[in-house]
Amino acid sequence: MPGFTIEEVVAATQGIIRRVKDNQFKGVITDTRKIQKDALFIALQGEKFDGHDFLGSAIVNGASGVIISKNYSKSELENLDATIIEVEDTLVAYQSLAKAHRKRFSIPVIAITGSNGKTTTKDLTAAILSSKFNVLKTQANFNNEIGLPLTLLQMDRVHDVAVVEMGMRGFNQIRQLANVALPTIGIVTNVGETHMELLGSMENIALAKAELVEEMDTGGFVILNGDNSYVKQMKNKVKGDFILFGCGDDCKLNATKIETNNACTKFSCDYRGKVEEFTLPMVGRHNVYNALAAIAVAEYLNLTADEVRCGLFNFTASGMRLAVMQVKNYTVINDAYNASPMSMMAAIDTLKEVAKDRSVAVLGDMLELGDISEQSHKKVGQKLVQAGVNIVVAVGEMSKWIVEEAQKGAIVAIHCKSHNEAGVALRKLLKAKDTILFKGSRGMQMEKVIDLL
Ligand code: ATP
Ligand code: MG
Repeated sequence: MPGFTIEEVVAATQGIIRRVKDNQFKGVITDTRKIQKDALFIALQGEKFDGHDFLGSAIVNGASGVIISKNYSKSELENLDATIIEVEDTLVAYQSLAKAHRKRFSIPVIAITGSNGKTTTKDLTAAILSSKFNVLKTQANFNNEIGLPLTLLQMDRVHDVAVVEMGMRGFNQIRQLANVALPTIGIVTNVGETHMELLGSMENIALAKAELVEEMDTGGFVILNGDNSYVKQMKNKVKGDFILFGCGDDCKLNATKIETNNACTKFSCDYRGKVEEFTLPMVGRHNVYNALAAIAVAEYLNLTADEVRCGLFNFTASGMRLAVMQVKNYTVINDAYNASPMSMMAAIDTLKEVAKDRSVAVLGDMLELGDISEQSHKKVGQKLVQAGVNIVVAVGEMSKWIVEEAQKGAIVAIHCKSHNEAGVALRKLLKAKDTILFKGSRGMQMEKVIDLL
């Protein structure tokens, strides 16, 4: 855990010292359940919890200092046996300490943003780089204003490189995260309709993602999806060097000969001046894009093609991202982690690629789409028809639009109010050897239907 002297804490946070007990801290912590001896506890204020309610327990558990908000009542602090530092905003203080710690290291820091595929690209990049380097990476999906500092504060002398995911729900968030992580390599995976409700238009989503590119300086390297028009345009904002990846001819890192089966995806691309073949141990053509972004990092950091292959071989995707498995006599594709219009289309294509016999889509609502909700769900219904999916079982309020459109194309399409109803419908409709895709927004928890087969 990173150590900070009291002077370093004050310099980083512009805090005011209210009491001194210890002047050296072994680690920075925001969760009292994870406190180590002599750590500095930062009282973050969230929607559900206020860290100030846990100051006492932080000290009992071994913290020797606390950072509190200047608005916190003075009387409560009287009996607190610890160093107390007061700041304007404890979250900003947390980020400032993470930034100060990150600046202690001159290793490459790779930041990944985009509407879809951030976690997959992060995990792929880390897996590939792990064949040569000791890699620090964002755990799970900790990609926000609290998760990013948490990752950066784990940076240690053993790490050669760090890979961090950056999520956003509005303007200036990626800018803020970039300002904490100070990335040397930036990736924008794509721009899609995710968070439309909050940002209002694709142009705004693109502007918010482009903040990563804007924040990178002339020494930085930017990796952009050249097949996504919004991302491609970001090259005009790059101050340093950049590369476009994709399947289009104007992409320097260009994938060809893409072949998939129900376990992996093969493709070729030009790597260090030679055409190389790579095998991705996961399904979904769209994952070739995620792999290309990771391969661009590998090339920039001078890994050999064999090191890339070795890293890809050892890769395992995070849970519920197109995980293919056998359940009873069915092939199940569990992509229930999340859904947006772009990832829904990609998953339906993948379903058709994997299915050797009938294809079944068990879909839940795509949330947070605001004004484009109806049209987006209808487009999914039309896509199911075009793709030739055999059966659709949809759960949720908005999924009725999926079903409406699917039925127009004479697909067997059933609208259900609950997981249980969907389970009953599926048990009636399914036949051995069917391939079934499960997908919906996180709030829809479509994985629960798998247990009902
Ligand atoms: P979140 O915003 O929830 O953090 P994310 O951007 O990290 O999401 P992943 O967790 O990698 O994305 O994947 C989420 C969903 O998007 C999965 O269903 C996955 O199959 C799909 N997906 C991943 N990469 C792409 C891509 N390049 N294009 C379209 N869909 C994708
Ligand atoms: Mg993610």
